[in-house]
Amino acid sequence: MAKKDYYETLGVSKSASESEIKKAYKRLAMKYHPDKNQDNKAEAEEKFKEVKEAYEVLTDPQKKAAYDQYGHAAFEQGQGGAGGFGGFGGFGGGAFDDIFSDFFGGGRGRGQTASRGNDLQYNITLTLEEAAAGVSKEIKVPTLVSCDTCHGQGTEKPSDVVTCNTCHGAGVVQMRQGFFAVQQECPTCHGRGKVVKNPCKKCHGEGRVQKTKTLSVTIPAGVDTGNRIRLSGEGEAGLNGAPSGDLYVQVQVKSHAIFERDGTNLHCEIPINIVLASLGGEVEVPTLNGKVSLTIPAETQTGKMFRLRGKGIKSLRGNAVGDLYCHVVVETPVNLTSKQKELLKELGESFKADKNSKHSPKEKSFFDKVKKFFG
Ligand SMILES: [Zn+2]
Ligand SMILES: [Zn+2]
Repeated sequence: MAKKDYYETLGVSKSASESEIKKAYKRLAMKYHPDKNQDNKAEAEEKFKEVKEAYEVLTDPQKKAAYDQYGHAAFEQGQGGAGGFGGFGGFGGGAFDDIFSDFFGGGRGRGQTASRGNDLQYNITLTLEEAAAGVSKEIKVPTLVSCDTCHGQGTEKPSDVVTCNTCHGAGVVQMRQGFFAVQQECPTCHGRGKVVKNPCKKCHGEGRVQKTKTLSVTIPAGVDTGNRIRLSGEGEAGLNGAPSGDLYVQVQVKSHAIFERDGTNLHCEIPINIVLASLGGEVEVPTLNGKVSLTIPAETQTGKMFRLRGKGIKSLRGNAVGDLYCHVVVETPVNLTSKQKELLKELGESFKADKNSKHSPKEKSFFDKVKKFFG
């Protein structure tokens, strides 16, 4: 079968530039696309192979030089006429579908790059009181929103959205790197397959504009550092009418001057003086919902822990409420007046008179152990 001249196949002159050859190839590749040739697929496939072969030779300087000098004989195996160019082969191999998926990116389809908007993250810092009770906060989020002038279409007139000339709607173009054909996103339409002729003045055809959105976030009672609240659809607007992303509000709870949090429980230190610790009495302790009275029994030692049920934090899931643990610290008195010192000395003398140390059982048992240890 006599092969058609490569230049003729592409419909270009022998002096055509590389860009003219490429242009012709793209035009013909689209013409013989299977979608457009449902009725005569086989013929279209044959044509496409010819076009592709011609394109591959004429855009390769080495092959082109050989072809210009020897014609088709340059690539015919076993004839040796072209000296060393026999091995190129491989043209037209494989089914039409393979070639096309190679060219257009398997399954990607044309103009289908309507992509969902990006998710956004917003960091919010809460006081412990806010986290415990729940709070409604207004936040300002810089984001991309759908342009209200063109309703996200990039132009006010739908007829101004036309198929991209560079990729003919494919969204991708094929670049040559040596022997390899590399597929890239179309630089003209950025993969959309369509371009806007008279872009919307407000969004410059992007369909989206930068805007600081003010949102009200309802933060549920019980949140803690690390919790995230998802605001569905409040992320960046999508491209080409695709859905928006989500906004994640990332919670950080500040440390508190009095309370330390452990899940739903709270802990706090309650310093008391030696008189209260010895004789017992009432002491006011703070909770997140105001002060409550705590009974300190007589002879309370330092480190003693009192639990106030239900005075912790509500669980984020369910209705369980944590407890408040009050850790008693017995404080040694400081800045004593001479009168107070006198009273303490008197107290000390009365302790000495007590031979069995019954007022300080811990001290006694400790020194008993020490005696045994050395004795
Ligand atoms: Zn617009
Ligand atoms: Zn394009």
